[in-house]
Amino acid sequence: MLELVDVGPRSLEAYRGIAPDPILDDLVRHAADLRGARVLHVNATPYGGGVSELLRSSVPILNDLGLIAHWKIILGDNRFFRVTKKIHNGLQGAVDDLTEKEREAYLDTSRRNAELLEEEYDFVFLHDPQPAGILSLREKRMAKWIWRCHIDTAQPNPGVWAFLRDCLRPFDAAVFTMASFIPPDFPIARVEIMPPAIDPLSPKNMPLADATARAVLEWIGVELDRPLVSQVSRFDPWKDPLGVIAAYRLAREEIPDLQLALVGSMALDDPEGWDVYRQVRDAALADPGIHVFTNLTGVGNIEVNAFQRRSQVVIQKSIREGFGLVVSEALWKETPVVAGDAGGIPLQMADGVGGVLVRDVETCARAVVALLEDRDRARALAQAGRDRVREHFLLPRLLLNELELMQELSAGRRVVAAKERDPVCGMSVAADEEAPEAAFEGATYRFCSDFCRAQFLRNPPHYARRVLRTDRGSRRD
Ligand code: UDP
Repeated sequence: MLELVDVGPRSLEAYRGIAPDPILDDLVRHAADLRGARVLHVNATPYGGGVSELLRSSVPILNDLGLIAHWKIILGDNRFFRVTKKIHNGLQGAVDDLTEKEREAYLDTSRRNAELLEEEYDFVFLHDPQPAGILSLREKRMAKWIWRCHIDTAQPNPGVWAFLRDCLRPFDAAVFTMASFIPPDFPIARVEIMPPAIDPLSPKNMPLADATARAVLEWIGVELDRPLVSQVSRFDPWKDPLGVIAAYRLAREEIPDLQLALVGSMALDDPEGWDVYRQVRDAALADPGIHVFTNLTGVGNIEVNAFQRRSQVVIQKSIREGFGLVVSEALWKETPVVAGDAGGIPLQMADGVGGVLVRDVETCARAVVALLEDRDRARALAQAGRDRVREHFLLPRLLLNELELMQELSAGRRVVAAKERDPVCGMSVAADEEAPEAAFEGATYRFCSDFCRAQFLRNPPHYARRVLRTDRGSRRD
């Protein structure tokens, strides 16, 4: 059997008064149809990175809603995870193709995991490329299989994509964070768009008394009478930690006592993390204003919570990004964000809320300084960011999207009509909600934000076709 990750019990009712009530009510209603359904989520690591973050919170709530949900992780050695990181990088556009030996290593480990996946389920979600090879190496049996892609695969390396594409053919559905991430010649008929979400009740995001947050940070050496900016993310080149250090050095010319904290987790499935960690540590070595922390030295959820709460600005200078949960995490705590204009980040900071989007080191440094110098503007941006997170990026909304997909896959019908969803990000936009609109070929489309509307207007046929396609069920044109 694959290894089961133990998760504690949770209650959906605990989200009353935090997440929007209509979403919670819908969730309970949809779950009634799926009571007793067996759901399996499979990924590569029980800690480190956004996927484990999501599963730790969502699996217990599915159980609370009456489904039987499990979270399991695949087995793999260092060689396998070096290959899967190369696949991950290739899907995000890196130039290195896979060698024949690397392809064999991926398929060998996938075969072993396919044999270990013994129990029967109604729905199996395989997250990201690491477990994606399993289905092509075993029977589907009674389950509906869903590939959940969390990364930006809009412009993949052709060789890496051709390899993974073959593994994906047998899936019943795929889920992406944004419509623009769907790679060319996608082989799965049914495609849904669901941005991820944060859990407002997890230790990382729950309210934390100011005195506790202060004590936690002071205990690890942060001086709270000096200004602090931080980036919390895996040590990964796409998150550009060296660019953050360069931006910090520029910003410090204006604000000499500025401190930077780089908080990075090491994940089981990310051996490249150590190489990047060493580069970051070397770059930070001679600079007492830079603090580098990892989960391996005890900087866990509460510390991350405190950093995101007590930093004057949170940075997420990603060059490529699937979603970047850390952006919503910081905004939820009303901390302004300076972030790379990449992947799912602009969706979270749509219409100018939350902070400032940047494309290079210089603009990053300038934005940090500007927010540090204009606290009123920073506060207003962060508050608007929190409102957007509450409306769109809290866990119950994501669970609702997932239940809808499961219902459709089991009954062959849509639950939320496509016309009630933003065609760009896939989020529901209630009929009675004031929302930006656009007309195309006689139909009116509604959006969660002006950002999504602008995306739509860049290429209406692309998005409108998607709506029609999902309306028609599993047919693809
Ligand atoms: N994270 C953490 N400790 C760290 C670095 C990251 O707990 O030292 C968490 C972070 O708070 C977030 C997740 O890991 O919940 C990263 O998710 P994100 O979507 O931002 O990026 P990913 O790692 O999935 O690319």
